Amino acid sequence: MDGLTFPSGRPRPHAVVIGSGFGGLAAAVRLGARGWRVTVLERLDQPGGRARTFRQDGFTFDAGPTIVTAPYLFEELWELCGRRLADDVELRPISPFYRARFDDDTVFEYTGDAEAMRAEVAKISPGDVAGYEAFMRASQEICRVGFEQLGDVPFTTLRDMARTVPDLLRLGCWRSVYSLVSSHVKDERLRTLFSFHPLLIGGNPFTATAVYALIAHLERHWGVHYAMGGTGALVRGISRLIEGQGGTLHCNADVTEILVRDGAACGVMLADGEHIEADIVVSNADSATTYRKLIPGNHRRNWTDRKLARARYSMGLFVWYFGTRRQYMDVAHHTLVLGPRYRELVEDVFTRKILAEDMSLYLHRPSATDPSVAPAGHDAFYVLSPVPHLGGGTDWRVEAERYRVRVAKRLAETILPGLEDNIVTSRTLTPLEFRDELASEHGAAFGLEPILTQSAWFRPHNRSEELTNLYLVGAGTHPGAGLPGVLSSARILDRVVPDVAAFV
Ligand SMILES: Cc1cc2nc3c(=O)[nH]c(=O)nc-3n(C[C@H](O)[C@H](O)[C@H](O)COP(=O)(O)OP(=O)(O)OC[C@H]3O[C@@H](n4cnc5c(N)ncnc54)[C@H](O)[C@@H]3O)c2cc1C
Repeated sequence: MDGLTFPSGRPRPHAVVIGSGFGGLAAAVRLGARGWRVTVLERLDQPGGRARTFRQDGFTFDAGPTIVTAPYLFEELWELCGRRLADDVELRPISPFYRARFDDDTVFEYTGDAEAMRAEVAKISPGDVAGYEAFMRASQEICRVGFEQLGDVPFTTLRDMARTVPDLLRLGCWRSVYSLVSSHVKDERLRTLFSFHPLLIGGNPFTATAVYALIAHLERHWGVHYAMGGTGALVRGISRLIEGQGGTLHCNADVTEILVRDGAACGVMLADGEHIEADIVVSNADSATTYRKLIPGNHRRNWTDRKLARARYSMGLFVWYFGTRRQYMDVAHHTLVLGPRYRELVEDVFTRKILAEDMSLYLHRPSATDPSVAPAGHDAFYVLSPVPHLGGGTDWRVEAERYRVRVAKRLAETILPGLEDNIVTSRTLTPLEFRDELASEHGAAFGLEPILTQSAWFRPHNRSEELTNLYLVGAGTHPGAGLPGVLSSARILDRVVPDVAAFV
């Protein structure tokens, strides 16, 4: 079978995928494996979306995701092509998962080892060990239902949603992650540490449904991994799978409209005016942008401009990528540098939408594991700080450098002494670039905010409610942001996209 025809010589039905984030790339492989002729159109000059790569002054920086969990979701893509992930990309387990440094200088080594975790909890608050274990049991049960059972269920009807309500009630998912954690552990530092996970996918721990407490178990069960060579190695690997299937991936291809005929998506128009016909269209672009910008309002009854304007969007991120001329050997691969405030800081980011004076940071040091990302004797880093999305009005053209200096000062005072004197390369990413480069509504880093009323059936569906033959994958659809989420959204296509035979 070549890229264009079946062995019988009949043309293969054509699927156009808008966007090459992990959701779009995984969708392309899955459709290709089912016989579709696939064309991926990416507006940027390289694939990966949030997971694109910046190369600068001899350093390689992953722009976004670095924590790979549930690796089987990647392995499946290789298996669909009759190959093995391990032959192309080495996923290396990382321990500790995170080293957390609290504002009072307490350090917590967060690992996947149950015994070591009990000892770490006991070091901080001996009375919380039993509560911690009860929390992990709750996380396991939520993961079994919320991820393993429901993660790839297409919530296309209200009936699908209604069926899950008893389970969600039983698991206490009307509560927030913080509330669930607090019902088990008393020490505020531990409450912070076991409730911060929603921030990894753009959620507010004080309002994100307790479903997201599943991440604690997900990490323990499958581990936290790093792709050697950087996450970009996974992007390149999947791109090669698509090409091996006979699919094509075009960069610098900006889709400006999804074409509609008789209520069905029938192709796309590019910025240069070119029309590309398709039997189905899969959008991996931000879901709000897909509806607001790519489909004229007269074709939308559910996701109207008004509804999208009222929706809640995840936080923004300030990300600073930098290289140092020296190595900080005692800094772990993943470090959380926590500030003096938690609830108040989160409220500044999500509710008041102001740039706070204090900050809590996640620091990535891939050169702790992978010497290939920095010149010899140097370290590659990125640090990210949750900040309000653009709805807060921060002018990042003015603030970016000021904020970078503040972040550098905080790192120098805590774990990277002498930092400013050792920087050899530097670049920043602010909500402005999330809006302008990644076409993300409000420059939000993770699409629609993960709250109960914007989850599952309430999220833009994987099979579009607006147009026949239009499908959505990626962070802004079900189940949501994060690599396991967006890879699961592509998995859902196997259940909602008809067999190619229906189009031949
Ligand atoms: C800094 C950062 C760190 C993160 N860390 C982690 C982590 O460690 N682990 C984890 O699991 N998750 C992490 N995440 C979340 C995770 O990266 C994202 O949820 C996920 O990568 C999003 O994938 P996606 O499929 O939604 O596509 P995206 O990555 O959002 O890509 C969408 C693509 O569509 C393209 N596009 C948009 N509009 C058009 C158009 N009109 N025409 C053509 N192309 C278009 C965009 O250019 C983009 O390439 C992180 C996110 C960020 C920002």
